[in-house]
Amino acid sequence: MFSAVQLEPRDRTAAARTAAVLTAVSAAVTVVFALAAPPDGGASTRLVTFLVPAALLGLAGVTLHAPQRRHVAVWVSTPILGILAIAALDLATHDASAAGQVFLCYPVVYAASQLRATAAGVAAGVAIAGDAVVVLTMLPLIQALTDFAYVSATLITMTILLAQAGQRQDRLVATLQQQAATDALTGLATRRVLDEAANVALSTPDDRRGTALIMLDIDHFKSVNDAYGHGVGDEVLMHVARILSEGMRRDTTICRIGGDEIAFLLPSCPQDVALRRAAELVRAVRERPMTLPDGTILRLSVSLGVAHAPEHASDLRELYAEADAALYSAKRGGRDRVGVPALLA
Ligand code: GH3
Ligand code: MG
Repeated sequence: MFSAVQLEPRDRTAAARTAAVLTAVSAAVTVVFALAAPPDGGASTRLVTFLVPAALLGLAGVTLHAPQRRHVAVWVSTPILGILAIAALDLATHDASAAGQVFLCYPVVYAASQLRATAAGVAAGVAIAGDAVVVLTMLPLIQALTDFAYVSATLITMTILLAQAGQRQDRLVATLQQQAATDALTGLATRRVLDEAANVALSTPDDRRGTALIMLDIDHFKSVNDAYGHGVGDEVLMHVARILSEGMRRDTTICRIGGDEIAFLLPSCPQDVALRRAAELVRAVRERPMTLPDGTILRLSVSLGVAHAPEHASDLRELYAEADAALYSAKRGGRDRVGVPALLA
């Protein structure tokens, strides 16, 4: 059977808008058809012809309401119900004309452009079956088969092309999300990843251990760039990032804030553990100098500032400010060390 992800549209708001637009357009087209070529039959047929667009317009309005709260099954059942309603209406009004059949494209366009490939395929299949019933019950066999061939070929082609475009878009979005989440030089996370993780950690405090933020800055990094060039500076950033990533707990987020500044978020981590971890990082960088291609040994050091919530801060802004201040005190104190917020010092 389908998983919830297969039923879920790519974007609920976009899916609701598309469904509303297609429903409103089909209402307008029905009115135009009815005015241009009034249907045969009595007053009741004419009434139905104008009541249907009115109902469709109402439905378009409802479709736009609160798409985020809608049950997942509604998204996939919408095109199926649309197809069944169109086929039933065609049968009720004895309309197997091209106009009557073409309406089957609307729900299929919605499904193929907004839902995943499997759901789109199901919608196309139901539409093809619906068209078969409409044409075979109302048209001479040869004409029925010709119409059916044209309509099913159109529905299948449309579904394949739109589903492929949707899958391309999914891949593109995944690539962009990956790029936005990863620092291209060091492979560390970006600040937005850390901010999201920090907001989660701060809003769901895990027992009494709290959340630690460690800010790290490479000491005298500018002089590395000046002495050996920007390329070696980049190598140093990668070298330090590698050392810092080793042996980190899986729930730790390490991000490059920018330049030579790196931050660590340690959720559910007591303050003394964070301080110990920070001291280990200082030692690890000090003990692993970098060897340049010409054999030069480049000794490196880092300064760190540790802040802890809830001790020093209640929100992310304060946590950053406290960790920054602690880092600054480590720099002032002579670098190659860990600094702590003033109230701990
Ligand atoms: P301090 O000990 O006070 O931190 O001294 P510092 O020289 O490290 O000073 P600071 O941290 O302010 O210097 C950061 C430098 O990092 C400035 C900038 O030229 C350099 N930088 C920023 N981004 C990059 C980068 O992507 N690659 C390289 N190679 N250098 C960068
Ligand atoms: Mg620096």
